[in-house]
Amino acid sequence: MPSYWKKLLIILALGVLIGLFFIFDLQRYLTLTELKSRQAEFQAFYDGNRLFSLAGFFLLYVVVTALSLPGAAVMTLAGGALFGFWPALLVVSFSSTLGATLAFLVSRFLLRDWVQQKFGGRLATINTGIEKEGASYLFSLRLVPLFPFFVINLVMGLTPMPARTFYWVSQIGMLAGTAVYVNAGTQLGQINSLSGILSPGLLISFVLLGLFPLLSKKGLDMLKQRKALAKFSKPKQFDYNLVVIGAGSAGLVSAYIAAAVKSKVVLIEKHKMGGDCLNTGCVPSKALIRSAKMLAYGRRAKEFGFKKTTTKFDFAEVMERVQKVVTKVEPHDSVERFTGLGVECISGAATITSPYSVVVNGRTLTTRNIIVATGAAPFVPPIPGLDQVDYLTSDNLWQLRELPKRLVVLGGGPIGCEMTQAFARFGAEVTQVEMAPKIMGREDPDVAAFIRARFEAEGIRVLTGHAAKQVVVKDNEKLLLCEYQGAQVEVPFDAILVAVGRRPNIKGFGLEELGIQISPRGTVATDPFLRTNIPNILCAGDVAGPYQFTHTAAHQAWYAVVNALFSPFKSFRVDYRVIPWCTFTDPEVARVGLNETEAIEQNLDYEVTIYKLEELDRAIAEGEDDGWIKVITPRGKDKILGATIVGPHAGDLLAEFILAMKHGIGLNKILGTIHPYPTLAEGNKAAAGEWKRAHIPVKLLGWVEKFHSWRRGGRS
Ligand SMILES: Cc1cc2nc3c(=O)[nH]c(=O)nc-3n(C[C@H](O)[C@H](O)[C@H](O)COP(=O)(O)OP(=O)(O)OC[C@H]3O[C@@H](n4cnc5c(N)ncnc54)[C@H](O)[C@@H]3O)c2cc1C
Repeated sequence: MPSYWKKLLIILALGVLIGLFFIFDLQRYLTLTELKSRQAEFQAFYDGNRLFSLAGFFLLYVVVTALSLPGAAVMTLAGGALFGFWPALLVVSFSSTLGATLAFLVSRFLLRDWVQQKFGGRLATINTGIEKEGASYLFSLRLVPLFPFFVINLVMGLTPMPARTFYWVSQIGMLAGTAVYVNAGTQLGQINSLSGILSPGLLISFVLLGLFPLLSKKGLDMLKQRKALAKFSKPKQFDYNLVVIGAGSAGLVSAYIAAAVKSKVVLIEKHKMGGDCLNTGCVPSKALIRSAKMLAYGRRAKEFGFKKTTTKFDFAEVMERVQKVVTKVEPHDSVERFTGLGVECISGAATITSPYSVVVNGRTLTTRNIIVATGAAPFVPPIPGLDQVDYLTSDNLWQLRELPKRLVVLGGGPIGCEMTQAFARFGAEVTQVEMAPKIMGREDPDVAAFIRARFEAEGIRVLTGHAAKQVVVKDNEKLLLCEYQGAQVEVPFDAILVAVGRRPNIKGFGLEELGIQISPRGTVATDPFLRTNIPNILCAGDVAGPYQFTHTAAHQAWYAVVNALFSPFKSFRVDYRVIPWCTFTDPEVARVGLNETEAIEQNLDYEVTIYKLEELDRAIAEGEDDGWIKVITPRGKDKILGATIVGPHAGDLLAEFILAMKHGIGLNKILGTIHPYPTLAEGNKAAAGEWKRAHIPVKLLGWVEKFHSWRRGGRS
């Protein structure tokens, strides 16, 4: 039988049973007055039929609690009055837990999928919380009598808590309350109302007991933190409030904020201020991409109405311009600027010698807190023979002054894709090799296919599903040997760029010696507050993960600094809800929130709205109308779950969706906002318009049509 029929049958059965209960006013038998007036009668029956009465009572109790009917409290009193304390405690404890678990299972069967599908995104944090600490939450809820019994059963059924956990925690958690009511039942004559059973003193004790697991967990955490620090001698005074190791995106922002809130902070950098982003990452790569784009425009001159253009260039000069761009940005991240902001800057390699001390250039600095912001380095896979050729990575690529004739780019991620297209545009014969079935693995298949087609149209050879196995040099020819569907493919090259990911810098500066824990992903393991297992050592940026972007490094830096400087008074969990990124291919691919693949994986009930740039006036005028805006929304709602933009300046255009998602602004509001004409940004409004068109109130428009017809005097 299909599951919706089963659900319908269960709803019908429940409806009938609950309906009968109220139609026949069975509730009147489950009142304190009724119980007291018929106590002697019940007692006589029980004395004559003990086993039958106990079994009948058990079953009735299960039914009342499973159907969430009112009367469980009176039944508990009745149990105490008739059976005596211990037998009643036993029967009520098991029947109430069984009934509660049945209610929990029914709520789960009928509603959980729907609730998780509808609110999956918003429930993610609650789900993780329940998975981790659900038992102690439930225990507290069971003990604190403010939360109604039946509500807890039904709500818990909607969470991912296993039924077994629900059962045993409920059994233990409800025991104290059950004992109080059963005991009260043994003195039924003295009870005049249900509300008087729990005296204020007893209520407070229950609340305290309920909070016990939560408080004890907090206490244990604090003890664990103290223990982690106990073996180190704590200086009486500290030179600094904060030592920041690494002056990349994460370290610079950490130091900046620490100085802004008037703490004494030192920033230590062993190589170049600005770290990867400025020196070997975002800045040089975007500068190179810019020159490559100029060339690409030149090649399209005819399209723009020119008879002919020639672009003569020297690759070395292009690379010199890249360096000039880096030099121009350098002052933003310089020692001078940061010293002016109140940060002490030290050039040298830092080593953490204890949670309270860092050694640099032979000098020991004492500090209350340390932020590790040591970044990541290109990961070079152990491919036999690779070390026999002078392979390139994003670290040494920028020293290149001669364009390789044939370039292999190993890796189909963002860095690999950006460099593949840029080098191809300068005229290198580029082969991009990716082990996975598609390049741009994180994006939707339509995005990956589109970028691949663009690459191939620009003369790039894209080899997906190809696993690089070995590098050999045969007759002076360098060859990359790949495995593709069981066969060997040889790719000749003059230079090879390894861009298969970046590995966090965790070694050689004291983390191992201190026993700092490392996550399975190779990043430093942190809690949601970015604290390592030694709580005054925190982490931000690529070394912490899970994202490896400049903007996420800066975002984490704020949390790491505030949590370092103001804990235990105030701490904040890092908010990863709205994380955008952009791959700077041409056209760019920018995304925030969910894409369609993730919406499917999360089993969401979603809708897709696509607006094609070929309809956007400005994109047409620019000759850049290839691409689209794709927005994911919950079915029938304008709330933005995610947006992907493929097109010119996609990274910039995405900002509107990022803002909207962060502040809960829906597509209706974007549609109601004036966007200047003709701009690319209008595409966002047009995408919102597409969504609106798919949700026209057809019935209402039918009435409006009738209204207009009436105004015309009834003519059709
Ligand atoms: C080619 C390329 C292109 C990229 N493009 C983009 C992009 O377009 N957008 C984007 O958002 N991100 C991009 N990234 C990623 C971005 O560069 C990183 O996410 C960012 O730089 C991480 O910053 P971080 O502070 O964590 O680390 P880093 O910038 O790597 O800084 C770490 C610093 O710590 C120093 N250090 C390490 N150990 C010690 C020690 N013991 N003592 C003292 N100093 C130490 C290092 O020398 C380094 O300067 C790109 C990366 C690459 C490689």
